[in-house]
Amino acid sequence: MTSTAIAAPAVLSGKPAEVGHFIDGRKVFSARPAFENRNPATGEVVSLVHEADAALVDDAVQAARRALKGPWGRMSDQERSGLLRKVAEGITRRFDEFLRAEVLDTGKPVSLASHLDIPRGAANFSVFADQILSASTEAFRMATPDGAGALNYAIRVPRGVIAVVCPWNLPLLLMTWKVAPALACGNTVVVKPSEETPTTAALLGEVMNEAGVPPGVYNVVQGLGPNSTGEFLTRHPGVNGITFTGETRTGEAIMAAASKGVRPVSLELGGKNAAMVFADCNLDKAIEGTMRSTFANCGQVCLGTERIYVERPLFNTFVERLKTAAQGLKMGDPFSPATNLGPLISSDHRKKVLSYYGRAKAEGAEVILGGGVPDLATPLSVGYWIEPTIWTGLSEESAVVREEIFGPCCHVTPFDTEDEAATLANNSPYGLATAIWTNDLTRAHRLAARIEVGIVWVNSWFLRDLRTPFGGSKQSGVGREGGVHSMEFYTELRNVCIKL
Ligand code: NAD
Repeated sequence: MTSTAIAAPAVLSGKPAEVGHFIDGRKVFSARPAFENRNPATGEVVSLVHEADAALVDDAVQAARRALKGPWGRMSDQERSGLLRKVAEGITRRFDEFLRAEVLDTGKPVSLASHLDIPRGAANFSVFADQILSASTEAFRMATPDGAGALNYAIRVPRGVIAVVCPWNLPLLLMTWKVAPALACGNTVVVKPSEETPTTAALLGEVMNEAGVPPGVYNVVQGLGPNSTGEFLTRHPGVNGITFTGETRTGEAIMAAASKGVRPVSLELGGKNAAMVFADCNLDKAIEGTMRSTFANCGQVCLGTERIYVERPLFNTFVERLKTAAQGLKMGDPFSPATNLGPLISSDHRKKVLSYYGRAKAEGAEVILGGGVPDLATPLSVGYWIEPTIWTGLSEESAVVREEIFGPCCHVTPFDTEDEAATLANNSPYGLATAIWTNDLTRAHRLAARIEVGIVWVNSWFLRDLRTPFGGSKQSGVGREGGVHSMEFYTELRNVCIKL
Protein backbone atom coordinates (compact mmCIF):
# COMPACT_ATOMS: atom_id res chain seq x y z
CA MET A 1 0.00 0.00 0.00
CA THR A 2 1.39 3.42 -0.93
CA SER A 3 0.71 6.13 1.61
CA THR A 4 1.37 9.36 -0.21
CA ALA A 5 4.02 9.67 -2.92
CA ILE A 6 2.64 8.40 -6.20
CA ALA A 7 3.63 9.53 -9.66
CA ALA A 8 1.03 11.22 -11.85
CA PRO A 9 0.20 8.83 -14.70
CA ALA A 10 1.45 9.01 -18.23
CA VAL A 11 -2.11 9.27 -19.54
CA LEU A 12 -1.96 13.02 -19.04
CA SER A 13 0.51 13.40 -21.86
CA GLY A 14 -0.92 10.62 -24.04
CA LYS A 15 -4.21 9.58 -25.58
CA PRO A 16 -7.03 9.65 -23.00
CA ALA A 17 -8.21 6.24 -21.84
CA GLU A 18 -11.79 5.15 -22.52
CA VAL A 19 -13.99 4.27 -19.55
CA GLY A 20 -16.85 1.94 -20.30
CA HIS A 21 -19.44 -0.23 -18.60
CA PHE A 22 -19.10 -3.55 -16.78
CA ILE A 23 -21.91 -5.97 -17.55
CA ASP A 24 -22.17 -9.71 -16.89
CA GLY A 25 -18.51 -9.91 -15.89
CA ARG A 26 -17.23 -8.16 -19.02
CA LYS A 27 -16.12 -4.69 -20.05
CA VAL A 28 -18.67 -3.31 -22.47
CA PHE A 29 -18.37 -0.21 -24.65
CA SER A 30 -21.07 1.73 -26.46
CA ALA A 31 -20.55 2.56 -30.15
CA ARG A 32 -18.46 5.58 -29.16
CA PRO A 33 -17.63 7.56 -26.01
CA ALA A 34 -20.19 10.21 -25.14
CA PHE A 35 -18.36 12.71 -22.95
CA GLU A 36 -15.02 13.84 -21.61
CA ASN A 37 -13.85 13.34 -18.05
CA ARG A 38 -11.54 16.15 -16.97
CA ASN A 39 -8.94 16.35 -14.24
CA PRO A 40 -10.34 19.11 -11.97
CA ALA A 41 -6.82 20.19 -11.01
CA THR A 42 -5.72 21.02 -14.55
CA GLY A 43 -8.83 20.88 -16.73
CA GLU A 44 -7.09 18.26 -18.89
CA VAL A 45 -9.13 15.43 -20.42
CA VAL A 46 -8.14 12.24 -18.59
CA SER A 47 -10.66 9.89 -20.14
CA LEU A 48 -13.51 9.56 -22.61
CA VAL A 49 -16.59 8.07 -21.02
CA HIS A 50 -19.26 5.87 -22.59
CA GLU A 51 -22.95 6.41 -21.91
CA ALA A 52 -25.40 3.53 -21.47
CA ASP A 53 -28.63 3.95 -23.40
CA ALA A 54 -31.89 2.29 -22.32
CA ALA A 55 -31.01 -0.96 -24.15
CA LEU A 56 -27.64 -1.27 -22.43
CA VAL A 57 -29.18 -0.49 -19.04
CA ASP A 58 -31.66 -3.28 -19.76
CA ASP A 59 -28.75 -5.65 -20.57
CA ALA A 60 -27.20 -4.82 -17.18
CA VAL A 61 -30.46 -5.33 -15.28
CA GLN A 62 -31.14 -8.62 -17.10
CA ALA A 63 -27.59 -9.83 -16.30
CA ALA A 64 -28.21 -8.96 -12.64
CA ARG A 65 -31.56 -10.82 -12.71
CA ARG A 66 -29.98 -13.92 -14.26
CA ALA A 67 -27.20 -13.90 -11.65
CA LEU A 68 -29.80 -14.09 -8.87
CA LYS A 69 -30.85 -17.49 -10.27
CA GLY A 70 -27.27 -18.75 -10.77
CA PRO A 71 -24.59 -19.96 -8.32
CA TRP A 72 -24.73 -16.61 -6.47
CA GLY A 73 -28.33 -17.21 -5.49
CA ARG A 74 -27.44 -20.61 -3.98
CA MET A 75 -24.37 -19.48 -2.02
CA SER A 76 -24.29 -19.59 1.76
CA ASP A 77 -23.64 -16.46 3.80
CA GLN A 78 -20.18 -17.90 4.56
CA GLU A 79 -19.33 -18.28 0.86
CA ARG A 80 -20.46 -14.74 0.02
CA SER A 81 -18.59 -13.42 3.03
CA GLY A 82 -15.43 -15.13 1.77
CA LEU A 83 -15.80 -13.54 -1.67
CA LEU A 84 -16.29 -10.09 -0.16
CA ARG A 85 -13.06 -10.53 1.80
CA LYS A 86 -11.29 -11.31 -1.47
CA VAL A 87 -12.75 -8.13 -2.98
CA ALA A 88 -11.39 -6.11 -0.03
CA GLU A 89 -7.98 -7.75 -0.54
CA GLY A 90 -8.18 -7.03 -4.28
CA ILE A 91 -8.73 -3.32 -3.69
CA THR A 92 -5.82 -3.26 -1.28
CA ARG A 93 -3.61 -5.14 -3.73
CA ARG A 94 -4.41 -2.63 -6.48
CA PHE A 95 -4.34 0.31 -4.06
CA ASP A 96 -2.16 2.54 -6.25
CA GLU A 97 -4.40 2.10 -9.31
CA PHE A 98 -7.50 3.00 -7.33
CA LEU A 99 -5.69 5.92 -5.74
CA ARG A 100 -4.47 7.34 -9.04
CA ALA A 101 -7.88 6.97 -10.67
CA GLU A 102 -9.65 8.64 -7.75
CA VAL A 103 -7.21 11.55 -7.60
CA LEU A 104 -7.43 12.14 -11.35
CA ASP A 105 -11.23 11.99 -11.38
CA THR A 106 -11.82 14.17 -8.30
CA GLY A 107 -8.69 16.34 -7.97
CA LYS A 108 -8.63 15.52 -4.26
CA PRO A 109 -5.21 15.48 -2.60
CA VAL A 110 -3.46 12.11 -2.58
CA SER A 111 -2.96 12.62 1.17
CA LEU A 112 -6.75 12.47 1.64
CA ALA A 113 -7.57 9.72 -0.85
CA SER A 114 -4.79 7.46 0.45
CA HIS A 115 -6.00 7.75 4.05
CA LEU A 116 -9.75 7.87 3.51
CA ASP A 117 -11.26 6.95 0.14
CA ILE A 118 -9.33 3.85 -0.85
CA PRO A 119 -8.83 2.21 2.58
CA ARG A 120 -12.51 2.80 3.42
CA GLY A 121 -13.50 1.39 0.02
CA ALA A 122 -11.74 -1.86 0.99
CA ALA A 123 -12.94 -1.73 4.62
CA ASN A 124 -16.58 -1.53 3.53
CA PHE A 125 -16.25 -5.04 2.07
CA SER A 126 -14.54 -6.56 5.11
CA VAL A 127 -17.00 -4.93 7.54
CA PHE A 128 -20.04 -6.33 5.73
CA ALA A 129 -18.28 -9.69 5.22
CA ASP A 130 -18.28 -9.89 9.05
CA GLN A 131 -21.72 -8.37 9.47
CA ILE A 132 -23.52 -10.98 7.40
CA LEU A 133 -22.10 -13.79 9.53
CA SER A 134 -23.69 -12.40 12.69
CA ALA A 135 -27.03 -11.32 11.18
CA SER A 136 -29.88 -12.78 13.21
CA THR A 137 -33.66 -12.86 13.17
CA GLU A 138 -36.26 -13.74 15.79
CA ALA A 139 -37.99 -17.07 16.55
CA PHE A 140 -40.88 -17.81 18.97
CA ARG A 141 -42.57 -20.95 20.26
CA MET A 142 -46.24 -19.99 20.42
CA ALA A 143 -49.20 -21.61 22.10
CA THR A 144 -52.10 -23.01 20.04
CA PRO A 145 -55.58 -24.16 21.21
CA ASP A 146 -54.73 -27.84 20.56
CA GLY A 147 -51.76 -27.61 22.90
CA ALA A 148 -49.20 -28.68 20.25
CA GLY A 149 -48.02 -25.13 19.60
CA ALA A 150 -46.29 -23.58 16.62
CA LEU A 151 -42.86 -22.30 15.77
CA ASN A 152 -42.96 -18.80 14.32
CA TYR A 153 -39.75 -17.32 12.98
CA ALA A 154 -38.39 -14.92 10.37
CA ILE A 155 -35.80 -15.42 7.67
CA ARG A 156 -34.01 -12.76 5.67
CA VAL A 157 -34.14 -12.95 1.89
CA PRO A 158 -32.38 -10.64 -0.58
CA ARG A 159 -34.55 -8.03 -2.28
CA GLY A 160 -33.21 -8.88 -5.74
CA VAL A 161 -31.57 -6.36 -8.08
CA ILE A 162 -30.46 -3.15 -6.36
CA ALA A 163 -29.74 0.04 -8.32
CA VAL A 164 -26.89 1.99 -6.72
CA VAL A 165 -26.78 5.63 -7.89
CA CYS A 166 -23.68 7.48 -6.70
CA PRO A 167 -22.30 11.03 -6.34
CA TRP A 168 -18.82 12.32 -7.21
CA ASN A 169 -17.46 13.58 -3.90
CA LEU A 170 -16.30 10.26 -2.38
CA PRO A 171 -16.80 7.96 -5.38
CA LEU A 172 -15.31 4.63 -4.26
CA LEU A 173 -16.11 5.06 -0.57
CA LEU A 174 -19.80 5.86 -1.01
CA MET A 175 -20.33 3.33 -3.80
CA THR A 176 -18.81 0.43 -1.83
CA TRP A 177 -20.77 1.56 1.25
CA LYS A 178 -23.87 0.42 -0.70
CA VAL A 179 -22.49 -2.37 -2.89
CA ALA A 180 -20.84 -4.29 -0.03
CA PRO A 181 -23.97 -4.75 2.15
CA ALA A 182 -26.14 -5.34 -0.93
CA LEU A 183 -23.89 -8.22 -2.03
CA ALA A 184 -23.38 -9.50 1.53
CA CYS A 185 -27.16 -9.97 1.73
CA GLY A 186 -27.24 -11.91 -1.57
CA ASN A 187 -28.57 -9.21 -3.90
CA THR A 188 -27.05 -8.31 -7.26
CA VAL A 189 -26.33 -4.70 -8.21
CA VAL A 190 -26.29 -2.29 -11.11
CA VAL A 191 -24.17 0.73 -10.23
CA LYS A 192 -24.50 4.15 -11.88
CA PRO A 193 -21.40 6.16 -10.90
CA SER A 194 -21.41 9.91 -11.21
CA GLU A 195 -20.58 11.13 -14.71
CA GLU A 196 -17.80 13.20 -13.07
CA THR A 197 -16.06 10.17 -11.51
CA PRO A 198 -16.55 7.03 -13.61
CA THR A 199 -13.23 5.24 -13.18
CA THR A 200 -13.04 3.43 -9.83
CA ALA A 201 -16.46 1.76 -10.30
CA ALA A 202 -15.22 0.34 -13.61
CA LEU A 203 -11.94 -0.77 -12.00
CA LEU A 204 -13.87 -2.53 -9.25
CA GLY A 205 -15.38 -4.78 -11.95
CA GLU A 206 -11.89 -6.20 -12.62
CA VAL A 207 -11.42 -6.82 -8.89
CA MET A 208 -14.78 -8.63 -8.72
CA ASN A 209 -13.67 -10.97 -11.52
CA GLU A 210 -10.29 -11.58 -9.86
CA ALA A 211 -12.06 -12.39 -6.58
CA GLY A 212 -14.30 -14.94 -8.30
CA VAL A 213 -17.59 -13.07 -7.91
CA PRO A 214 -19.89 -14.66 -10.53
CA PRO A 215 -20.71 -12.67 -13.69
CA GLY A 216 -23.79 -10.45 -13.41
CA VAL A 217 -23.54 -9.94 -9.65
CA TYR A 218 -21.78 -6.57 -10.00
CA ASN A 219 -22.62 -4.41 -13.02
CA VAL A 220 -21.75 -0.82 -13.87
CA VAL A 221 -23.47 1.48 -16.36
CA GLN A 222 -21.87 4.83 -17.10
CA GLY A 223 -23.76 7.95 -18.11
CA LEU A 224 -25.65 11.03 -17.02
CA GLY A 225 -28.71 11.37 -14.78
CA PRO A 226 -31.98 12.83 -16.13
CA ASN A 227 -33.13 11.41 -19.50
CA SER A 228 -30.05 9.24 -19.47
CA THR A 229 -28.54 6.22 -17.75
CA GLY A 230 -29.54 7.23 -14.20
CA GLU A 231 -33.19 7.68 -15.10
CA PHE A 232 -33.28 4.57 -17.34
CA LEU A 233 -31.93 2.55 -14.42
CA THR A 234 -34.14 3.90 -11.64
CA ARG A 235 -37.26 3.55 -13.83
CA HIS A 236 -36.39 0.01 -14.93
CA PRO A 237 -39.08 -2.43 -13.69
CA GLY A 238 -36.46 -5.14 -13.18
CA VAL A 239 -34.91 -3.17 -10.32
CA ASN A 240 -36.24 -4.18 -6.89
CA GLY A 241 -34.77 -1.40 -4.74
CA ILE A 242 -32.83 1.85 -5.20
CA THR A 243 -30.12 3.20 -2.97
CA PHE A 244 -29.05 6.74 -3.78
CA THR A 245 -26.56 9.29 -2.49
CA GLY A 246 -26.70 12.81 -3.88
CA GLU A 247 -28.62 16.05 -3.91
CA THR A 248 -32.01 16.36 -2.26
CA ARG A 249 -33.73 17.44 -5.52
CA THR A 250 -32.36 14.36 -7.30
CA GLY A 251 -33.57 12.27 -4.36
CA GLU A 252 -37.08 13.58 -4.97
CA ALA A 253 -36.89 12.54 -8.65
CA ILE A 254 -35.62 9.09 -7.69
CA MET A 255 -38.32 8.67 -5.06
CA ALA A 256 -40.91 9.50 -7.74
CA ALA A 257 -39.34 6.95 -10.13
CA ALA A 258 -39.37 4.32 -7.34
CA SER A 259 -43.06 4.87 -6.67
CA LYS A 260 -43.84 3.10 -9.96
CA GLY A 261 -43.90 -0.52 -8.85
CA VAL A 262 -43.81 0.52 -5.15
CA ARG A 263 -40.08 -0.08 -4.80
CA PRO A 264 -38.16 0.78 -1.62
CA VAL A 265 -35.58 3.58 -1.56
CA SER A 266 -32.71 4.48 0.72
CA LEU A 267 -31.74 8.13 0.25
CA GLU A 268 -28.65 9.89 1.60
CA LEU A 269 -29.09 13.51 0.57
CA GLY A 270 -27.77 17.03 1.07
CA GLY A 271 -27.05 18.98 4.23
CA LYS A 272 -26.36 22.44 5.62
CA ASN A 273 -24.65 21.27 8.74
CA ALA A 274 -24.08 23.37 11.83
CA ALA A 275 -21.23 23.33 14.32
CA MET A 276 -21.88 24.68 17.83
CA VAL A 277 -18.81 25.96 19.62
CA PHE A 278 -19.16 26.72 23.34
CA ALA A 279 -16.79 28.95 25.30
CA ASP A 280 -15.85 26.02 27.54
CA CYS A 281 -14.52 23.89 24.65
CA ASN A 282 -10.94 22.88 24.03
CA LEU A 283 -10.29 25.58 21.42
CA ASP A 284 -7.33 23.86 19.77
CA LYS A 285 -9.43 20.77 19.15
CA ALA A 286 -12.44 22.82 18.01
CA ILE A 287 -10.30 24.67 15.46
CA GLU A 288 -8.63 21.50 14.26
CA GLY A 289 -12.01 19.73 13.91
CA THR A 290 -13.69 22.69 12.22
CA MET A 291 -10.82 23.02 9.76
CA ARG A 292 -11.46 19.45 8.67
CA SER A 293 -15.24 19.70 8.69
CA THR A 294 -15.24 22.89 6.60
CA PHE A 295 -12.31 22.45 4.23
CA ALA A 296 -11.68 18.69 3.83
CA ASN A 297 -12.20 17.60 0.23
CA CYS A 298 -12.52 21.30 -0.65
CA GLY A 299 -15.78 21.43 1.34
CA GLN A 300 -17.37 18.78 -0.86
CA VAL A 301 -18.48 16.48 1.95
CA CYS A 302 -22.16 16.01 2.73
CA LEU A 303 -21.32 15.99 6.45
CA GLY A 304 -19.24 19.17 6.18
CA THR A 305 -19.86 22.28 8.27
CA GLU A 306 -21.07 25.42 6.48
CA ARG A 307 -22.77 27.11 9.48
CA ILE A 308 -20.77 27.73 12.66
CA TYR A 309 -22.39 29.11 15.82
CA VAL A 310 -19.90 30.33 18.43
CA GLU A 311 -20.66 31.44 22.01
CA ARG A 312 -20.12 35.19 22.10
CA PRO A 313 -17.16 35.41 24.54
CA LEU A 314 -15.18 33.13 22.19
CA PHE A 315 -16.47 34.56 18.90
CA ASN A 316 -13.65 36.96 17.91
CA THR A 317 -10.88 34.61 19.02
CA PHE A 318 -12.49 31.68 17.19
CA VAL A 319 -12.86 33.62 13.93
CA GLU A 320 -9.28 34.84 14.12
CA ARG A 321 -7.90 31.38 14.90
CA LEU A 322 -9.95 29.75 12.11
CA LYS A 323 -8.73 32.38 9.64
CA THR A 324 -5.08 31.80 10.61
CA ALA A 325 -5.48 28.04 10.31
CA ALA A 326 -7.23 28.33 6.92
CA GLN A 327 -4.44 30.58 5.64
CA GLY A 328 -2.15 27.61 6.20
CA LEU A 329 -4.03 25.38 3.74
CA LYS A 330 -1.86 24.39 0.83
CA MET A 331 -3.21 24.23 -2.71
CA GLY A 332 -1.06 22.56 -5.35
CA ASP A 333 -0.55 19.42 -7.38
CA PRO A 334 -2.95 16.85 -5.84
CA PHE A 335 -0.26 14.21 -6.35
CA SER A 336 2.12 16.14 -4.05
CA PRO A 337 1.98 14.87 -0.45
CA ALA A 338 2.22 18.50 0.74
CA THR A 339 -1.11 19.53 -0.85
CA ASN A 340 -4.09 19.52 1.51
CA LEU A 341 -6.64 21.58 -0.43
CA GLY A 342 -7.69 20.42 -3.89
CA PRO A 343 -9.93 22.06 -6.50
CA LEU A 344 -13.70 21.83 -6.89
CA ILE A 345 -15.00 18.98 -9.05
CA SER A 346 -15.93 20.95 -12.19
CA SER A 347 -16.16 24.30 -13.86
CA ASP A 348 -19.96 24.25 -13.43
CA HIS A 349 -19.69 23.52 -9.72
CA ARG A 350 -17.19 26.35 -9.33
CA LYS A 351 -19.64 28.72 -11.06
CA LYS A 352 -22.28 27.67 -8.53
CA VAL A 353 -20.00 28.13 -5.51
CA LEU A 354 -18.74 31.48 -6.84
CA SER A 355 -22.34 32.65 -7.20
CA TYR A 356 -22.68 32.23 -3.40
CA TYR A 357 -19.36 34.04 -2.88
CA GLY A 358 -20.77 36.93 -4.93
CA ARG A 359 -24.07 36.85 -3.12
CA ALA A 360 -22.40 36.98 0.32
CA LYS A 361 -20.47 40.08 -0.74
CA ALA A 362 -23.57 41.72 -2.22
CA GLU A 363 -25.51 41.09 0.98
CA GLY A 364 -22.82 42.85 3.02
CA ALA A 365 -21.04 39.89 4.62
CA GLU A 366 -17.73 40.62 6.27
CA VAL A 367 -15.30 38.52 4.25
CA ILE A 368 -12.81 37.27 6.83
CA LEU A 369 -10.85 35.21 4.29
CA GLY A 370 -10.93 34.38 0.58
CA GLY A 371 -13.97 35.05 -1.54
CA GLY A 372 -12.47 34.47 -4.97
CA VAL A 373 -10.30 32.37 -7.26
CA PRO A 374 -6.60 31.86 -6.42
CA ASP A 375 -3.82 32.86 -8.74
CA LEU A 376 -2.05 29.57 -9.51
CA ALA A 377 0.69 28.79 -12.00
CA THR A 378 0.15 26.66 -15.12
CA PRO A 379 -1.08 23.93 -15.45
CA LEU A 380 -3.18 24.47 -12.29
CA SER A 381 -4.35 27.88 -13.54
CA VAL A 382 -6.78 26.04 -15.85
CA GLY A 383 -8.24 23.88 -13.05
CA TYR A 384 -11.32 24.56 -10.95
CA TRP A 385 -9.58 26.05 -7.91
CA ILE A 386 -11.27 28.33 -5.43
CA GLU A 387 -10.21 30.15 -2.28
CA PRO A 388 -11.17 28.86 1.17
CA THR A 389 -13.64 31.43 2.44
CA ILE A 390 -14.97 32.56 5.82
CA TRP A 391 -17.79 35.06 6.32
CA THR A 392 -19.52 36.69 9.26
CA GLY A 393 -22.37 39.16 9.51
CA LEU A 394 -25.08 37.65 7.30
CA SER A 395 -28.71 37.21 8.36
CA GLU A 396 -29.93 33.68 9.09
CA GLU A 397 -32.38 34.19 6.21
CA SER A 398 -29.61 34.64 3.63
CA ALA A 399 -29.41 31.90 0.99
CA VAL A 400 -25.69 31.70 1.81
CA VAL A 401 -26.62 30.55 5.33
CA ARG A 402 -29.62 28.40 4.35
CA GLU A 403 -28.62 26.60 1.14
CA GLU A 404 -26.04 23.86 0.66
CA ILE A 405 -23.07 25.42 -1.17
CA PHE A 406 -20.76 22.36 -1.17
CA GLY A 407 -17.57 24.40 -1.26
CA PRO A 408 -14.69 25.31 1.10
CA CYS A 409 -16.60 27.99 2.96
CA CYS A 410 -18.48 28.74 6.17
CA HIS A 411 -20.43 31.50 7.85
CA VAL A 412 -19.78 32.17 11.55
CA THR A 413 -22.50 33.62 13.83
CA PRO A 414 -22.30 34.45 17.56
CA PHE A 415 -24.86 33.18 20.10
CA ASP A 416 -25.55 33.94 23.77
CA THR A 417 -27.37 30.93 25.22
CA GLU A 418 -27.53 27.17 24.66
CA ASP A 419 -31.21 27.53 23.84
CA GLU A 420 -30.45 30.11 21.13
CA ALA A 421 -27.68 27.89 19.69
CA ALA A 422 -30.08 24.93 19.46
CA THR A 423 -32.77 27.04 17.80
CA LEU A 424 -30.28 28.38 15.24
CA ALA A 425 -28.88 24.93 14.47
CA ASN A 426 -32.38 23.49 14.00
CA ASN A 427 -33.46 26.34 11.73
CA SER A 428 -32.83 24.40 8.51
CA PRO A 429 -34.79 22.25 6.09
CA TYR A 430 -31.86 19.81 6.27
CA GLY A 431 -30.95 17.51 9.16
CA LEU A 432 -27.83 15.54 8.35
CA ALA A 433 -25.15 16.17 10.99
CA THR A 434 -23.98 18.53 13.69
CA ALA A 435 -20.73 18.94 15.64
CA ILE A 436 -20.86 20.18 19.23
CA TRP A 437 -17.66 21.48 20.80
CA THR A 438 -17.95 21.66 24.60
CA ASN A 439 -16.39 20.21 27.74
CA ASP A 440 -19.76 20.17 29.51
CA LEU A 441 -20.90 16.58 29.09
CA THR A 442 -24.39 17.23 30.46
CA ARG A 443 -24.90 19.94 27.86
CA ALA A 444 -23.63 17.59 25.15
CA HIS A 445 -26.22 14.94 26.10
CA ARG A 446 -28.98 17.56 26.28
CA LEU A 447 -28.18 18.92 22.83
CA ALA A 448 -27.66 15.50 21.25
CA ALA A 449 -31.28 14.72 22.10
CA ARG A 450 -32.53 18.11 20.88
CA ILE A 451 -30.75 18.76 17.56
CA GLU A 452 -32.81 17.50 14.59
CA VAL A 453 -30.15 15.55 12.69
CA GLY A 454 -29.17 11.97 11.93
CA ILE A 455 -25.63 12.27 13.32
CA VAL A 456 -24.32 14.25 16.31
CA TRP A 457 -20.60 14.55 16.95
CA VAL A 458 -19.32 15.76 20.30
CA ASN A 459 -15.75 17.07 20.20
CA SER A 460 -15.14 15.21 16.93
CA TRP A 461 -16.13 15.04 13.29
CA PHE A 462 -16.31 12.22 10.70
CA LEU A 463 -15.72 9.60 13.38
CA ARG A 464 -17.99 6.60 13.24
CA ASP A 465 -17.99 2.86 13.81
CA LEU A 466 -19.26 1.43 10.51
CA ARG A 467 -21.70 -0.80 12.43
CA THR A 468 -23.73 2.18 13.68
CA PRO A 469 -26.71 3.74 11.83
CA PHE A 470 -25.96 6.46 9.27
CA GLY A 471 -28.49 8.72 7.57
CA GLY A 472 -30.21 12.08 7.62
CA SER A 473 -33.35 13.63 9.09
CA LYS A 474 -35.73 16.08 7.38
CA GLN A 475 -34.65 16.71 3.75
CA SER A 476 -31.28 15.03 4.31
CA GLY A 477 -32.54 11.55 3.68
CA VAL A 478 -34.79 8.56 4.11
CA GLY A 479 -33.67 5.48 6.03
CA ARG A 480 -30.51 4.44 7.81
CA GLU A 481 -27.63 2.30 6.59
CA GLY A 482 -24.66 0.81 8.46
CA GLY A 483 -24.33 -2.48 10.33
CA VAL A 484 -27.66 -4.22 10.93
CA HIS A 485 -29.47 -1.16 9.57
CA SER A 486 -28.08 -1.92 6.11
CA MET A 487 -29.49 -5.44 6.47
CA GLU A 488 -32.92 -3.86 6.95
CA PHE A 489 -32.73 -2.21 3.55
CA TYR A 490 -30.95 -4.91 1.57
CA THR A 491 -33.14 -7.80 2.75
CA GLU A 492 -36.79 -8.53 3.27
CA LEU A 493 -37.96 -10.40 6.34
CA ARG A 494 -40.17 -13.38 5.57
CA ASN A 495 -42.41 -14.68 8.34
CA VAL A 496 -42.54 -18.48 8.58
CA CYS A 497 -45.03 -20.10 10.94
CA ILE A 498 -44.94 -23.89 11.44
CA LYS A 499 -47.76 -25.62 13.20
CA LEU A 500 -46.29 -28.40 15.34
P1 NAD B 1 -26.49 14.62 -7.83
O1 NAD B 1 -27.77 14.41 -7.15
O2 NAD B 1 -26.37 15.71 -8.83
O3 NAD B 1 -26.04 13.29 -8.62
C1 NAD B 1 -25.90 12.06 -7.97
C2 NAD B 1 -26.10 10.93 -8.96
O4 NAD B 1 -27.47 10.94 -9.40
C3 NAD B 1 -25.25 11.03 -10.21
O5 NAD B 1 -24.79 9.74 -10.54
C4 NAD B 1 -26.23 11.55 -11.26
O6 NAD B 1 -25.89 11.20 -12.58
C5 NAD B 1 -27.51 10.87 -10.82
N1 NAD B 1 -28.76 11.52 -11.24
C6 NAD B 1 -28.98 12.84 -11.40
N2 NAD B 1 -30.28 13.04 -11.76
C7 NAD B 1 -30.87 11.83 -11.83
C8 NAD B 1 -32.19 11.37 -12.12
N3 NAD B 1 -33.17 12.22 -12.43
N4 NAD B 1 -32.43 10.04 -12.09
C9 NAD B 1 -31.46 9.16 -11.76
N5 NAD B 1 -30.18 9.54 -11.48
C10 NAD B 1 -29.90 10.85 -11.49
O7 NAD B 1 -25.40 14.76 -6.66
P2 NAD B 1 -23.86 15.10 -6.81
O8 NAD B 1 -23.73 16.49 -7.29
O9 NAD B 1 -23.20 14.00 -7.56
O10 NAD B 1 -23.36 14.99 -5.29
C11 NAD B 1 -23.38 16.05 -4.39
C12 NAD B 1 -24.61 15.97 -3.49
O11 NAD B 1 -24.60 14.70 -2.82
C13 NAD B 1 -24.62 17.00 -2.38
O12 NAD B 1 -25.93 17.49 -2.24
C14 NAD B 1 -24.24 16.20 -1.13
O13 NAD B 1 -24.69 16.74 0.09
C15 NAD B 1 -24.88 14.89 -1.44
N6 NAD B 1 -24.25 13.82 -0.66
C16 NAD B 1 -24.93 13.28 0.40
C17 NAD B 1 -24.34 12.29 1.18
C18 NAD B 1 -25.05 11.69 2.36
O14 NAD B 1 -24.56 10.68 2.86
N7 NAD B 1 -26.13 12.23 2.84
C19 NAD B 1 -23.05 11.84 0.86
C20 NAD B 1 -22.40 12.42 -0.23
C21 NAD B 1 -23.01 13.40 -1.00
